[in-house]
Amino acid sequence: MFITCQINTLTIFFQISEGTKKMTNIYANIILQSFKFSLALPKLDKPKNDPFETLIITIISQNTADTNTQRAFENLSKHFEITPQALSKAQTNMIEACLHIAGLSKNKSKVIRTVSKIILEKFAGLLKPIMSLPLDEARETLTLLPGVGPKTADVVLLFAANQPTIPVDTHVNRVSKRLGLASPNGNYEAVDLSLQSYFQPKEYLAIHILLIAHGRKYCKARKPHCLECKVNNYCPSNSQRDKND
Ligand code: SF4
Repeated sequence: MFITCQINTLTIFFQISEGTKKMTNIYANIILQSFKFSLALPKLDKPKNDPFETLIITIISQNTADTNTQRAFENLSKHFEITPQALSKAQTNMIEACLHIAGLSKNKSKVIRTVSKIILEKFAGLLKPIMSLPLDEARETLTLLPGVGPKTADVVLLFAANQPTIPVDTHVNRVSKRLGLASPNGNYEAVDLSLQSYFQPKEYLAIHILLIAHGRKYCKARKPHCLECKVNNYCPSNSQRDKND
């Protein structure tokens, strides 16, 4: 089956073998271009190039909407300097009060205080040297910190150090699998590596952000909006496919 894809002024013809719908790099990049065209890349409020600040924001953001993460971080910034020195000395209940709006504030405040203390004691208060380690070593070092799993480590490494990794959150995981960009049973590492195989490292930040945006707007967990979805022609999970045939 030949498919015609028009992106801006560029028309691309490509072939998908019926039945297998095997993903190709061209196909993956058409999806990326379509995302870029149809979804606004969310603006970062300011470059999150301070790794400690990025780590704290990422801890706050766990299971929390972006607006509440931002508000909680602003509350925290009003009361404390966002440094390992200041946060390791802060009273946990004071941090907790600042993070209340983000939810799970009791747990997050404990993690933030403990992580700050460890960074101060073990790494002389500096995360920047870890950012320049090779990716695997940097990730391994970060995940030694309590409350820091592979996703949090990857977010810090991608956003604060532009390291070549693609953090896999719930949206990235779901949308990649539905689109055939990752194997349906792939674990965190498998999804990350599969996505990396389709895109250039300079696109890792964009694809991470756009898969999340697409997951929130169209490819929702329970009821994906396949009819309105801008990449439904290329999606093997399109619920409208049979209806359109
Ligand atoms: S067609 Fe449906 S399942 Fe496929 S990416 Fe779009 S919204 Fe998700």
